[in-house]
Amino acid sequence: MAQLLTYAAFHDRLRHEMQPEQGTLSVIAVIVVNLDFVSHLDGALGYRAGDAASGEQMHRLALALRDSDAVAEVSRTELVCLLSHLPSHGHLTLALQRIMRALREPISLAGHEVLPTPAIGVAVRKDRDGDPDTVLREANLAMRAARDKSEGIAYFESAAEAESSSIDLHAALHKAIQENELEIFYQPLVDLKTGVVRGAEALLRWNRGPAGFVRPDRIVLIAERTGLIEPLTEWICNTAVRHCGMMWRAGLQLNVSINISAQNLREPQLPELIARSLRLWGVSPDNITLELTESAMMDQAASSLQSLTRFKDMGLLLAMDDFGTGYSSMARLKDLPLDELKIDMRFVRDMLTVERNEKLVRSMIDLAHALDMFVVAEGVETQDIASRLRDLACDMIQGYLVSRPLPLELFLDFVRARSTSPANAKS
Ligand code: C2E
Ligand code: MG
Ligand code: MG
Repeated sequence: MAQLLTYAAFHDRLRHEMQPEQGTLSVIAVIVVNLDFVSHLDGALGYRAGDAASGEQMHRLALALRDSDAVAEVSRTELVCLLSHLPSHGHLTLALQRIMRALREPISLAGHEVLPTPAIGVAVRKDRDGDPDTVLREANLAMRAARDKSEGIAYFESAAEAESSSIDLHAALHKAIQENELEIFYQPLVDLKTGVVRGAEALLRWNRGPAGFVRPDRIVLIAERTGLIEPLTEWICNTAVRHCGMMWRAGLQLNVSINISAQNLREPQLPELIARSLRLWGVSPDNITLELTESAMMDQAASSLQSLTRFKDMGLLLAMDDFGTGYSSMARLKDLPLDELKIDMRFVRDMLTVERNEKLVRSMIDLAHALDMFVVAEGVETQDIASRLRDLACDMIQGYLVSRPLPLELFLDFVRARSTSPANAKS
């Protein structure tokens, strides 16, 4: 278990470890752990719940580290650790995995299960150059980048490294948007009662040839940072609406779900842009669902509510994506004009083996129904899970069991084949 220090003692210890006479045979790492979710908990469950969660994370962190490591609390939402004398980078990677696993375990608070979403920034020193404040600043900058990553961990990159990789990607993304190198894949959404494909989620794909696929959440992040989010969103919305029109003209009455980022929600021209695409491609607004993550909806309460109401007034459907990973309060959920809840796959994937997750899924389904919403389970990979979800009265499923996301043509073939093959219709 790591030593728990005050911040001042931690700083002294770091200064000591960074003296040249400590040698260069081992690696030292400074880690900043951000616990922003604690502030959300304060709002949803009260300060005492926030305090308890923050204390629990500190305790878990200390337990996950070695006796020679140190931990200090900077604030309720920020912890720092010093891992000294690591034999290699490999040891650091293992330590980070151990820390992340410990911190992400659910916490039980006042009858609620909370899934912590920590972000970890890492700065590493082998040659012990620089001073404690520089290393701490680097770890803090990395932590900010980690907040946007699904794995929740980021290493500090020197300014030169960061700039060159983002400039390369920025230029490449700009070209990709202009030259139509981006694609949208479609993943079926299936009605659990009838087995009929009701719609599809549009998922962004960018194949950079030998450089491989770029993950869609990363594309969105690069676009947000480099001012390309507007043209990118315009392209995604327009293309997905156009494809929806093609589906209907091909005789397939399908709904298309489009993912909208938190930043998109703050763009005042987005509703008009979508309205224009609907007119252009002759698509009825109730054939389009906009998916927003729970945290995007909880962000900036007043302005996001305004945009959501605007979309709703246009006749579009609204879904809360990745439900269960954010911190919506009941009151907020009741006030949002939502049509659909999508249960995050973290609960669904192991619901047959982890009883707690099954209970959570069950209560999310009941909650959605109590609020007159459709409920979709994401990440359904096995028939057993689908059957259990059907017993729990879940409305729809999405996941590899039915199909991976497919290019438009293959998706259309899939829907046609499924509608003519009764044997398939009930999976
Ligand atoms: P999401 O909206 O929650 O999308 C579901 C993700 O789960 C997709 O990952 C999908 O391929 C994956 N998935 C579906 N079924 C299964 C399953 O059975 N098992 C597993 N392991 N995974 C499954 P993908 O396509 O990599 O997208 C990741 C995230 O990127 C999306 O999460 C969404 O937040 C974002 N994203 C994708 N396309 C767009 C877009 O056009 N705009 C915006 N703003 N975000 C997008
Ligand atoms: Mg989605
Ligand atoms: Mg999701």
